[in-house]
Amino acid sequence: MTVLAVAEHRRGDLRDISFELITAGRELAADFDTDLAVAVIAGDIEGFADKLNREGVDTIYTVDNGEEFNHGVYAEAVEQLCAELDPTALLLPNSVNGLDYAPAVAGSLNLPLVTDVVGIEGGGTVEVVREQYGGKVETTYEVDSERCVLTIRGAEWPPAESTGDASIEAAEIDIDEGSLGATVNGFEEVGSGDVDITDADVLVSVGRGIGEEDNIPIIEELADALGATLSSSRPIVDNGWLPQNRQVGQSGKVVTPDVYIAVGISGAVQHVAGMKGADTIVAINSDPNAPIYDIADYGIVDDLFEVVPRLIEEFGGQAPEI
Ligand code: FAD
Repeated sequence: MTVLAVAEHRRGDLRDISFELITAGRELAADFDTDLAVAVIAGDIEGFADKLNREGVDTIYTVDNGEEFNHGVYAEAVEQLCAELDPTALLLPNSVNGLDYAPAVAGSLNLPLVTDVVGIEGGGTVEVVREQYGGKVETTYEVDSERCVLTIRGAEWPPAESTGDASIEAAEIDIDEGSLGATVNGFEEVGSGDVDITDADVLVSVGRGIGEEDNIPIIEELADALGATLSSSRPIVDNGWLPQNRQVGQSGKVVTPDVYIAVGISGAVQHVAGMKGADTIVAINSDPNAPIYDIADYGIVDDLFEVVPRLIEEFGGQAPEI
């Protein structure tokens, strides 16, 4: 018996969710008094295995096949690892990639799949927590099976940090390349440029309080002055003022920057779902009762058109004419 977590990487870097999966996995493994195994598939498997060697991980299995994510390779490799290890729980990221192959693996192994898990408890059976009604309600489910596949929401568990002493093994996986159905020829970023807001240390996020598209450059100036990346709430994307890859939230991206500055954002649950994992949250909002202040570490209750130009000057930028 074991708990198996599968790491995720993109363009040569392990994603934060890989280390969060280790934390969730070792808690579950402790509940079941069993081992935690981590698999890493494709790319720089040796380098990745070294980085994944965190406290609580017993074994790291490497699968050497290709550079980037490929549905067929991941599904086949994970199925074969499960056949070998018979894990009590298979933990996958609730990411675009994870949600791509998790159903295939669960279907093929005839196991129940629970997606977007924000809490887990083991012991006799696995109990999982999911959010409903846009995050307003949490529901605990008991998984009525001895084995299950769970996709874990990002930023819900802290990343595992201390180095461990896992053994690293090359998994014996036999993949019939002819049956894969797809090959990965390259990697092209969707949306504008190569901006990935999930990688940013500092995000300046703009919301509907900005009023109109012509005012967006004011917030861009602030981001530039701070050396930050620009992101937004959903209405800004729905209005076509910024591309979709800038959207933070339940139907956007989950971000975990060191600093998140929310400008003219009310703090709706669907937005907060994407940014509550930020280390420090700063809110600029003229409404003192805006829900964003419930989670902000620092707040400036004032008109953003007064505050932002002064911040830009303070940080050495050129304040725009308003
Ligand atoms: P508003 O709620 O309109 O807030 C604007 C804020 O700006 C207000 O608090 C106001 O006080 C402040 N303000 C106005 N003028 C000024 C000024 N001059 N100076 C300072 N402050 C000012 N939303 C997301 O963001 N991301 C998602 O992924 C997402 N997914 C969703 C999924 C579903 C299924 C649903 C139903 C909704 C989703 N939403 C999402 C939408 C969400 O419910 C909110 O409507 C949205 O987050 C509100 O965006 P906002 O805070 O920019 O705008």
